[in-house]
Formats: sequence, C-alpha cells, structure tokens
Amino acid sequence: MEENNKFISRVLPLEERSEAAWFFAFQENKLLVQQQSSQLTIPCLLDFAELGLPVLRQHYLGQLDRRHCYTVELAEGIIPPEGTAFEGLRQVYGRLDEDLFWVAGRAVQIIDWDRTHQFCGRCGSHTRTHPTERAKECPQCGLLHFPRLAPAIIVLVARARRFPTVMYSTLAGFVEPGETLEQAVVREVKEETGIAVKDISYFGSQPWPFPHSLMIGFTAAYESGEITLEDEENIDAGWFSADRLPALPGKISIARKLIDWFLEKQGRSPEVDPRGIKKR
Ligand SMILES: [Zn+2]
Repeated sequence: MEENNKFISRVLPLEERSEAAWFFAFQENKLLVQQQSSQLTIPCLLDFAELGLPVLRQHYLGQLDRRHCYTVELAEGIIPPEGTAFEGLRQVYGRLDEDLFWVAGRAVQIIDWDRTHQFCGRCGSHTRTHPTERAKECPQCGLLHFPRLAPAIIVLVARARRFPTVMYSTLAGFVEPGETLEQAVVREVKEETGIAVKDISYFGSQPWPFPHSLMIGFTAAYESGEITLEDEENIDAGWFSADRLPALPGKISIARKLIDWFLEKQGRSPEVDPRGIKKR
C-alpha cells in the first residue's frame, strides 16, 4: 500500500504562524468544505474567525506539506457561509484532495475524542487538555485519556484450485484484548464462515475514521472446512474467481485494495477490463 509521509503530526505548533492554515471544521461529524469548480477544498485561512462562525473547540493537528492544520468543532445549527457546505466524510472522498481527505480523517477523530472525554472515566471529574500531549488529563486522579483507536483485522482468503478463487467479503472484525492480530484473523474467519485458514500474511493498514478504527489487512490461504454462514451479516460470503466477482467495495477501502491486489495477481485489472466484474 502507498505510504503517505507528507503529514507531520504535532500537538503544538513549533513556531508562531504567519501564513494561512487549513481549518478542518466539523459540525457533528460533517466537514465544512468549500466548492472550488467541480472539486472540493478545505478553508485555508489566516484566522478561522474570518468565517464568523462560533467555535466550540479547536486543536492543532500538525503540518501537511508544511502548512499548519487545525481541527475545529462548530456548534449545531449554524448555517454554512456562502460557497461552503457541511458534508459527510465518506461523501467527500474522491472530490477532495486525497491528502486533505486523510487529514480530515484524523481531524474528525481528535474532535470526537475531545467531545467524548470531557469527564474522567474513573472519578467523573472534569478533564483538562494536557498541555503537551494528545491526552485529556484528570486533575483529580491523574488518569490520562488518549484518543481511542480500535484495531480491526480485515482478510482476503484465497483458495488454490485449478482456477484460484478468493473469498470476497468484508470479512473483518475487531481485535479482542489479549489476542494477536493473527489469532484475530483465524477467529474471525472461523466465526463468520466456519472455515480454517493458514499462511496469514500482512498486507497493509489503513486508518478508518468511521468512527475510530485502524484496519489491518491480511491475506490468508484456505486450510479446511466448508462455508457455513452463522450470522446474517455475511450472507454474501462465498468463493469467487477473478472474473466472477460480486459488487465490490468502494475504492477508498482496504477491502477493495485487497481485492484489486488479488485481481492484479491474477493478471486482471479492474480498471482496464471491467467487463467481467458485475457491478451493482
Ligand atoms: Zn479522575
């Protein structure tokens, strides 16, 4: 998977800012975007107050291509200024520069963490923002509350036959406390489909800000068993060959990157020859 190191994360700016900054502003989980011809962009301003919108909370995020980035929460019910709109993060994917999109994914999680950690989970006191770390600190008992991150595995299972097949599915699940990632892969596949897998290898990872997951992708090989679907969420699970895939997940997702990787390995490119792929 592609690496993106253009963004440098920081809790506080290193120096006084004299240039315009990106402001990732949210109302609930909707992002304030500006129309710029057919594309969307993020407000880039010297001071967010220029927009005249009341701010509930603000955090510094770091720098994208040396430009400072902030995340801001806006009160409910305010009307977006002319030329701007509030849009869901998933809806702006593909219309917003990809680097800005992923910073927005960080931004929404920082705002959500601040909003949901106003009180200490141990003693109930009002927390305060730690001066130098990305943490909320309890002044009473000292407990630190860091941004939540829920690791989840996602796996593509390939079955070697004369024509290799793949189990397409959004076969994914949260890692349990005390479990390795590999154990989570084996358990999830077994629980959701009844089959056993082997040869688990790491594929890549992806932050998934809906609301605060980290998707860790794997590939695995079929070992034994028949698919038996135990819960109704996965009625789609099954073996599919590269030229007979069902509707694919969106390009944004690591699930799709796993499937595209499999297609490439089979010498097929969904970009070049979509004829064999049934699209919904
Ligand atoms: Zn406390």
